[in-house]
Amino acid sequence: MRIAVLALQGAFIEHEQMLQRLGVETFQIRQLIDWQQPKDGLILPGGESTVQMRLLSQLGLHDPIREAILGGLPVFGTCAGMILLSKGYLGTMDIVVRRNAYGQLGSFHTVGTVEGIGKDLPMTFIRAPYIETVLSDACIPIASIDGHIVAARQGNQLAAAFHPELDCDPRIHQFFLESAVFSRTSVDK
Ligand code: GLN
Repeated sequence: MRIAVLALQGAFIEHEQMLQRLGVETFQIRQLIDWQQPKDGLILPGGESTVQMRLLSQLGLHDPIREAILGGLPVFGTCAGMILLSKGYLGTMDIVVRRNAYGQLGSFHTVGTVEGIGKDLPMTFIRAPYIETVLSDACIPIASIDGHIVAARQGNQLAAAFHPELDCDPRIHQFFLESAVFSRTSVDK
């Protein structure tokens, strides 16, 4: 089991630490050559989505990553990573997000339920987006805070507006590994 972690910018080390605690090998995607390695899943971390998008295009990673996700590669996007999965960005998930939905300085911590995963999950929001529109039945909202959708899944794709890698609760990463990754064999592209 090897999980690729996009490591261009943002909070990628925390995802690697969480996955390593769960006994999973990780490696960083910094350039196109890294992408050639076999992988069982991909993490798109938080950070700054406009910067990440620009770097994905400049490095030639945009199309290969998009095609791999559409081809079934399990992917988990958090915060900016969720934005990357949405329409207008990589566009692999049928969601429209509102960036900086809580304001540029709107960061907060709460606990909430994620359907299929559990209750009282810590949720740290940092200049977070939320999901404004779900565009198809293939996409299933799995968590809401104050009436706004903050997590969803769609086939091999999982997205959260908050940062489970910054808290100590491993349940969401475990869910990603169990539901998306263990059901598949290694994907080479
Ligand atoms: N505000 C950032 C963006 O729009 C996301 C913040 C985050 O990933 N913590 O890309």
